[in-house]
Amino acid sequence: MNSAEPTNSPRSRRERPAKPALSRDGIVAAAVHVLRTEGLGKVTMRRLAHELDTGPASLYVYVRNTDELHAAVLDALLAEVDLGREVDGRIHTYVAVRAPEEWLGTIDFSDTGAARAAVLALFDGWDDRPRALIADATGPLVPRHIHALPIGVEWERVPGVTLLGDAAHLMSPFAGEGANLAMFDGAELARAIVEHPGDTEAALASYEKEMFPRAAETAADSAGNLTLMFGPDAQQRLFDMFAGFDEAATEEAAQS
Ligand SMILES: Cc1cc2nc3c(=O)[nH]c(=O)nc-3n(C[C@H](O)[C@H](O)[C@H](O)COP(=O)(O)OP(=O)(O)OC[C@H]3O[C@@H](n4cnc5c(N)ncnc54)[C@H](O)[C@@H]3O)c2cc1C
Repeated sequence: MNSAEPTNSPRSRRERPAKPALSRDGIVAAAVHVLRTEGLGKVTMRRLAHELDTGPASLYVYVRNTDELHAAVLDALLAEVDLGREVDGRIHTYVAVRAPEEWLGTIDFSDTGAARAAVLALFDGWDDRPRALIADATGPLVPRHIHALPIGVEWERVPGVTLLGDAAHLMSPFAGEGANLAMFDGAELARAIVEHPGDTEAALASYEKEMFPRAAETAADSAGNLTLMFGPDAQQRLFDMFAGFDEAATEEAAQS
């Protein structure tokens, strides 16, 4: 273009870079991008049309409605998930339910078919793919109550004795940190013993002094996550939480 030409002169559409052809895969990829950057609430036909520089009507040729779009997004995301198999190739899945304490007692877990049906009933109306993780389970369902110690539990020093791992700070599994904490406790206890040669009592006191606040912080996270996962807008809030981890990791990588 001649630089002397007035900037508001009509501009031929042919000068614009050609738009990539629409396709179902392209629409789903754009939806995954919007989900990752803006959240599920923004994955709408209108927002995607804007993202793909087209009109919403063009998208309906490839995806019938928002439900179908969300299902396709779920498919795309599930395809990326590494389910982490056991050494014998099995996949273990967990279902967490917030229910009255007696609820587990109302199900006969020795009858795997009946137990499966009872658990599946909680997921009526859900997509068949996540339901298949229960419906197609080959092993028995193992019921467990989730227990937790009060956040910040401490005790008076008892000479010669201490606790570590779940025995010291049992919490719900919703921070996914119990095993990490148990191993960290072990390493810290060993360090304290090495740093206080011949004085076990000083070593145990020093270990506990650091272990109590460390455990309390994670127990609070765990309790907070439990409330989040069973509370309103759990899906969006969980998404925001994981997106926050990504941002924190990116910032940390940039600083290192
Ligand atoms: C569903 C679920 C998911 C979880 N997910 C995660 C996760 O993603 N990440 C994570 O970090 N943590 C997770 N955890 C927590 C983690 O499993 C525990 O925090 C961790 O196993 C605690 O280790 P521990 O050695 O303290 O206790 P345990 O693993 O309970 O080990 C204690 C051992 O002592 C044995 N024992 C008990 N009494 C006696 C006795 N009298 N004599 C001899 N032996 C005895 C028990 O049989 C057991 O083997 C999860 C927990 C659950 C329930």
